[in-house]
Amino acid sequence: MPVRKIAIVSAGTAAVAALVGAAWLGVSSRRADPPPPAIRTVFVPSGPPEVTLTDTLRVGQTLGELFDDNGFAGPEAVEVFNLLRRYKNPRSLRPGTVIQLIAPIAQGPTESGEPLLASAPNRVHLKPDPDSRLVLDASMGEWVGRLDSVPVVSDTVKLAGLIQANMYDARLGGDTTGLVSSDVRQLIWALSEVYQWRIDFYRDVHPGDAYRMLVEREVRPDGSVRAVRVLAAEFRNRDQVLAAVRFHPPEGEPNYYDEKGESVRRAFLLSPLDFRRVTSGFSSRRFHPILKRYRAHLGTDYGAPTGTPVRSTGDGTVTRASWWGGYGRAIEIRHANGFSTRYAHLSRIGVRPGQRVAQGEIIGRVGSTGLSNASHLHYEFLQRGRHRNPTGLKLPPAEPVDPDLLPAFDIERDRLLAVLEGVEMPTLTRLADARSEGRSTERGE
Ligand SMILES: [Zn+2]
Repeated sequence: MPVRKIAIVSAGTAAVAALVGAAWLGVSSRRADPPPPAIRTVFVPSGPPEVTLTDTLRVGQTLGELFDDNGFAGPEAVEVFNLLRRYKNPRSLRPGTVIQLIAPIAQGPTESGEPLLASAPNRVHLKPDPDSRLVLDASMGEWVGRLDSVPVVSDTVKLAGLIQANMYDARLGGDTTGLVSSDVRQLIWALSEVYQWRIDFYRDVHPGDAYRMLVEREVRPDGSVRAVRVLAAEFRNRDQVLAAVRFHPPEGEPNYYDEKGESVRRAFLLSPLDFRRVTSGFSSRRFHPILKRYRAHLGTDYGAPTGTPVRSTGDGTVTRASWWGGYGRAIEIRHANGFSTRYAHLSRIGVRPGQRVAQGEIIGRVGSTGLSNASHLHYEFLQRGRHRNPTGLKLPPAEPVDPDLLPAFDIERDRLLAVLEGVEMPTLTRLADARSEGRSTERGE
């Protein structure tokens, strides 16, 4: 069944406008108060009543069919259709797009209850995408079109979270009023993006870990969020607190730095899986491979659904991309300074030997090929052929803040961190027990 609503919009019967007479300005203490200003009442004649038909494009339905279903057909409908085409390909409109047909004369619903336009509409409104609104208007006699961008306002949000079992179930503090779960998820994703070189959000987040962040958001009039930008954050992971401050040098790209101006970026991402791409609440720690029976286990296993994208953790060159015994379909990448990484049990390989890959580039998909009995990614990190634990390594950071810009950075850091202080970093107190349980690591198994 189509979702269809009818709304009768009538301009007010009469609007009353109060016009205030010119104020008497020459105030002098020796004179009496000025006389009260005269008030004139002006009656503004009301416009004719009009009817707005709101309909939603269904799956498989064309815009022409929608017009037709609402009694809008003939040469004028074709004209509107052709005008619309100048702004947007009607075939590219997605199901769910809301279209409003506004007609100057209302006749109300027909006897059958079907709302039909009594006259051809003289305005058509639709939102081809969340950030724009297309207005087609014939109220001045000729159809003209206008593509408006939806005004976006920005606000800042301070949020704190105390992690209980995973990133998604944190106890929240700060500006939580009006935040719905999708807003919170978006903020957590933004946070995970900032820290992806420093924290493995799958395996290395524990009960009692906590964060606080200052975020700038772009919000549309309907309350939906277009973009979020972390301005400053602190993440307490185990016993260390990592600060990240956004700094945009006059030339170049914005980046995140710690209090001293060191980049939070590293030569390697800590996780080969993008935290945002796996089902929310999916915990790697719940995954217990039986691989240990087959051979010594040197690496990290990430339980994830088959098909989950796998990314290269660093810039490098593919040295192997093929079936590789117990690894099943596997990829090996050689990086600078004697580092290499391996990605095993893939369902699909997306690169070829010799190919250059960038950090974060998707190279394949999670699977269960080779010696594997459940869908997961086996990841190895090697330095000069020896297996290493990337979480414990001090990997060289990316470029720090340019020394010439340090004074500017210091001002920005102090400003942002002072605002961040406005929300309290959650403390452990009652989660202390849960935390000590959660600290048993599964690395090196
Ligand atoms: Zn493994």
